[in-house]
Amino acid sequence: MALTGIEIYKLLPKTNCKKCGFPTCLAFAMKVAQKGIEITACPDLTEEARGALEAAARPPIRLVTVGSDEHKFEVGNEVVLFRHEKTFYHPPALMVRVKDNLAAEERDKLVSEVSRYSVERVGIVMSADGFAIDNDSRDAGKFAACVESVTSQVKSPLVLMATDPAAMEAALAKAAGRRPLIYAATRDNLDRMVELAKTYNCPLAVSEPAGLSELAELTERAAQAGVEDLVIDPGATGFSASLQVLTQLRRLAIKKMFQPLGYPIITFPGDGATSVEEEAMLAGQHIAKYAGIIVLNHFSPATLYPLLTLRLNIYTDPQKPIRVQPGIYQIGEPKDSSPLCVTTNFSLTYFSIAGELESSGFPSWLLVCDTEGLSVLTAWAAGKFDADRIAKSVKEYKANEKINHNSLILPGKVAVLRGELEEELPDWKIRVGPLEAMDVGSYLKTQWKP
Ligand code: SF4
Repeated sequence: MALTGIEIYKLLPKTNCKKCGFPTCLAFAMKVAQKGIEITACPDLTEEARGALEAAARPPIRLVTVGSDEHKFEVGNEVVLFRHEKTFYHPPALMVRVKDNLAAEERDKLVSEVSRYSVERVGIVMSADGFAIDNDSRDAGKFAACVESVTSQVKSPLVLMATDPAAMEAALAKAAGRRPLIYAATRDNLDRMVELAKTYNCPLAVSEPAGLSELAELTERAAQAGVEDLVIDPGATGFSASLQVLTQLRRLAIKKMFQPLGYPIITFPGDGATSVEEEAMLAGQHIAKYAGIIVLNHFSPATLYPLLTLRLNIYTDPQKPIRVQPGIYQIGEPKDSSPLCVTTNFSLTYFSIAGELESSGFPSWLLVCDTEGLSVLTAWAAGKFDADRIAKSVKEYKANEKINHNSLILPGKVAVLRGELEEELPDWKIRVGPLEAMDVGSYLKTQWKP
């Protein structure tokens, strides 16, 4: 947690010697707090003060990278308990488990289906983040062969799941340079897994279901041995236990700054779940509170899509609406006789109306006004979607050059703007469209005439 200027000042020598270029230690401390200068600019800092300041600068939950180059994800580095306090930064990775004893054909089909699956929502393309390859067979050779096969098929980030260090080493050799997450170091194999993490420069998951004190003891041992890119698995399953434990871990990291448990959490919602639906619901709970990596036992677009959408919603900065660029968009291949609709630049609004126009069978022009990312009614209530702004957008984006009929269709929810807009655009015919985007197709079928 960032220190205040006064807290930093308390750690300085307080001699006002000016060697840092500031007239007083207090002035220097204030600048450090604003991140305007590095603490190292004070040459007289004691080792103790330096250590305290560096520790304070560390994020409460370590940022951990899994994967390499452009095929990687980052988890951790969260600083709040609740999204409304600030925002959440690193969405949990959704991985699909591939067991090494699946028949080759079945395994390849699963990997292919997962890697080809993607959906677009509000202009953002979403998909699963990678694979967790599980040494279910307990056979090191089979595990290595499975890892080799998957890595030859996809470049996605990987979790390698085995408790036998020999099996893990054989698999790591097949995933060289991919920087997979090693899952898992346990009380029985910690030293060997730590050595593998160091040798292959990989992040390491530490698993200890016995309790949080025991888990902290293991992470401290791993960190002291030189592996700090850790992920933790407290082993909690089910709705109640996992909510309780994951919340406790987040509170300990954020509120108590308890470093031994300040790492991203990996969960397995399918373990102990009685159905695919229960696994999906638990995964939803873990997205909200507070997993960093979620390994799904099952893959189905019907369950992955809502999870991806939930994740997108929770990890969108609530203070920054997702917006599209204002301008005139072509929906399909419109002609100069095609309809022209107007809307706001809130992404969800834009993609709703664009999708409905696309499926209406009427290629159209869509004029998008800059409403600072607000939806139709919100923007209208805030004075950001009024006749003046719409008229300015019509002129700025030269809407009249796209069409030959000078008709503009307003969203039905702002029908009240029609009169004012007719005054602003005297040569235009202002029409009032339907209240809901989903009715635009039937509106055009029954009402549209150029
Ligand atoms: S160099 Fe250090 S001790 Fe001297 S004024 Fe700056 S902060 Fe204070």
